[in-house]
Amino acid sequence: MTRRRRIYEGKAKVLFEGPEPGTLVQYFKDDATAFNNQKKGTITGKGVLNNRISEYLMVKLGEIGVPTHFVRRLNMREQLVREVEIIPLEVVVRNIVAGSLAKRFGIPEGTQLPRSIIEYYYKSDELGDPMVSEEHITAFGWATPQDIDEMLSLALRINDFLLGLFLGVGLKLVDFKLEFGRLYENDEMRIVLADEISPDNCRLWDVKTNEKLDKDRFRRDLGNVEEAYQEVARRLGIFPEGGPRDMKGPSTMQ
Ligand code: UDP
Repeated sequence: MTRRRRIYEGKAKVLFEGPEPGTLVQYFKDDATAFNNQKKGTITGKGVLNNRISEYLMVKLGEIGVPTHFVRRLNMREQLVREVEIIPLEVVVRNIVAGSLAKRFGIPEGTQLPRSIIEYYYKSDELGDPMVSEEHITAFGWATPQDIDEMLSLALRINDFLLGLFLGVGLKLVDFKLEFGRLYENDEMRIVLADEISPDNCRLWDVKTNEKLDKDRFRRDLGNVEEAYQEVARRLGIFPEGGPRDMKGPSTMQ
């Protein structure tokens, strides 16, 4: 069997060379990290669920005209994606105060924001992903003003769509993180949504009880972490291929 070339290994995913030029295979691991790698653990079945949840959301976003890197899901833990040049920014969209925003300004978690807030963070593990302004982004050449306008308008469209989608299944979309990439096609560059959208990078609270159904259960040792990810998938109408017992998925990787 030929071994695939490993392009990059991140905290929750591995990227392999894809079957055709310009494609990559995104493999979802069960590994979880928090607080800039200080907390490490495994959430059994997370990779399988995030692969399915992200597929579901990327396909839906594609249907409303949001360009994404997603091509198709290959198996329980892998999806085929277009190879893009990742813009080194984390674009965070917030609807309700939580996490670092609550801490930074001393505002209670759960406070509804009068309008959605977009923040940018520079992707750097060594620096702990510092928050940056548009001035930093353009001065340091991470993105042009046009790129920023495009990411901002895509982020707001994605937020409007996902707010409604999650509300329909009884979940409040508190905040989430997006990553974008540049896709080059016939001498043209397009900015597309990349990475993943899953409970690893969204805060999702039950509409009635405010129960947290996302990675905060791992970050804050709230227990029932696997169950929370399963519940998000269940509400979205996604089930594991081989039934609930199949959550773990294949444990071998090429
Ligand atoms: N987030 C993420 N990766 C990061 C930082 C944040 O996916 O490296 C997500 C996080 O899951 C949450 C949102 O971005 O949905 C806002 O996170 P926040 O700034 O509140 O930071 P945190 O409390 O996670 O440190």
